[in-house]
Amino acid sequence: MNNTVDAGLVFLLNGPKLLVDLSSGVPGIPDTSVAELLGLSLADGYRLGSIDGADCHALTVAGESEPPPGMAYLGLRKLFGTLNDTRYEMAVRALAILNWDRTCRFCSACGAPLGRHETILAKVCEACGFTMFPRISPAVIVLVERQEKVLLARASRFAENLYSVLAGFVEPGETLEETVLREVREEVGVEVSDIRYFGSQPWPYPDSLMIGFTASWAAGEIAADNDEITDARWFTVDNLPKIPDKLSISRSLIDWFIDKHRKER
Ligand SMILES: [Zn+2]
Repeated sequence: MNNTVDAGLVFLLNGPKLLVDLSSGVPGIPDTSVAELLGLSLADGYRLGSIDGADCHALTVAGESEPPPGMAYLGLRKLFGTLNDTRYEMAVRALAILNWDRTCRFCSACGAPLGRHETILAKVCEACGFTMFPRISPAVIVLVERQEKVLLARASRFAENLYSVLAGFVEPGETLEETVLREVREEVGVEVSDIRYFGSQPWPYPDSLMIGFTASWAAGEIAADNDEITDARWFTVDNLPKIPDKLSISRSLIDWFIDKHRKER
C-alpha cells in the first residue's frame, strides 16, 4: 500500500513563502502531520484537489512561525524548477486561494462578514446572501514582432536593465484582442495585427491570470509613454537585452521568438 495516498499533502503558506521539507535533499511538500506540529487545523484551510490520489490542502500560518526541524519557508518564485511541475502548480493555486481568503472578508454589497459557501469555492454574505467568488484579474501579455525583430520594453517597475514584452490589465467590456490593441498603442504608440493566442499562466501576485498573445507590427514607430514604459526598442535574437527568468510566460514568449529565429538560420 502507498502511505502517501492516506497522508495527503499540505501547501502551507507564510505570506508568499511555502513550507518545504528539505530532509531528502530536494524541496518536498510536507504531509498532513505538519498541521498538528504547528498547532493548525486542516479544517481552517482549503481543499485544493489531489495529486496522485493524495488530497492537497492549503493552509496559512502566521508570519512569526518557526518552521519544524528539517523544513524551511521558501519563496514560491525561487521554487520554480525545483519543485516538480504538478506540485508547483498546486502551490500557485494555494497562494491564489489564500490571498483571496485573506483579502475578501466582508460583503462588498452590505459590509457584513462573509462565511464560506458550503459546496463551491466562494463566500456568502450572512446578512444579504450576496455571493463572492475568488477574484481573478485577467491581464494580456503580448509579444510584438516586426520581421526578424521583437519589441521589448523597460517598465518603470522592473529591475535595472530588464526588458520584457508588453502587458496590461483587461478593462470591463473589452475583448482580449481589444486589450492587446489598446495596451500596445498606449504604452509604445504602435499598431498591431494578426493577434494570436499563445497560452496562459496564473500569476498569484496577488490575483492575476496572464493571457499570452503574439502579434505583428502593423504601423507606427515606437514612442514609449514614459510613464509605465521608460524605454522600448526592436531587438534581434543576436542583441537581446537582459530578459525575465524562466518562470514567467513573458520568458516563454521570448523563448518562442528566439527558437523560431534561430531555426530560420
Ligand atoms: Zn451582504
